[in-house]
Amino acid sequence: MLESINPDSISFPPRVLIGLTMMSRSLFLGLFLATISLAHAEGHHEAHHWGYVGQEGPEHWAELDPSFDLCKRGKNQSPIDLKNFVDARLPPVGLHYQAGGYEEINNGHTIQVDYDHGSTITLDGREYELKQFHFHTPSENHIQGKEFPMEAHLVHADQAGNLLVIAVMIEEGPENPVLAAAWSVMPEQPETMVHLSNKISAEGLLPADRDYYRFEGSLTTPPCSEGVIWLVMKHPITASAAQIRRFAQVMGHPNNRPIQPLNARLVIE
Ligand SMILES: [Zn+2]
Repeated sequence: MLESINPDSISFPPRVLIGLTMMSRSLFLGLFLATISLAHAEGHHEAHHWGYVGQEGPEHWAELDPSFDLCKRGKNQSPIDLKNFVDARLPPVGLHYQAGGYEEINNGHTIQVDYDHGSTITLDGREYELKQFHFHTPSENHIQGKEFPMEAHLVHADQAGNLLVIAVMIEEGPENPVLAAAWSVMPEQPETMVHLSNKISAEGLLPADRDYYRFEGSLTTPPCSEGVIWLVMKHPITASAAQIRRFAQVMGHPNNRPIQPLNARLVIE
């Protein structure tokens, strides 16, 4: 299920996703850094548009489409304010990433880099493959009440389609090399994309110390599906003020869903 592994692409009808795959394999062959309009390729807009402001904003998501019902009715929603940690002596995450970011998409909701097959993490003896990473500003999750200027989401799925997101807080500081590579060719118009001739590695989005918090949550975008494993890195990475500002300017508005109730959940560390 492509929709379920591309949280920020969910509003695209399947035909767009198929179109992307076909384009990346044929049309883009030999085309470097060409920007292609997804809207033009698709020819019409998605049926149920959602966004971050006004009548399409997070407080209205459940009203926009019956399939978005969990955005209002769900009890294990993301993002959250992480606090009251329970010590569970979490094991290290086994990371096996290669440089696999092959295309960069501005889908109007975020900037997303789609990832080649073959980069995985192991957790609880289960293997999850990295599908894509994307960004939010300001951060969606908070840690003990603290909001960060940006947050990276590394979206993984196992073979059964179970989702696992590694979230990394980004604070202002030295420039981040992954963002430097991605921002240098950033598609600035919504529903456009670029092919990356030099594949990007997501490893530069992880802090050196990979201690993490873990909880059960959801997609932070419609349809807000639950059953997502969240691993939030305890330590932030940095991006320069210019890198953070550039992303915010291209988005044109904050792209963070507000904090959701923790309800009966525990955050373990
Ligand atoms: Zn996200």
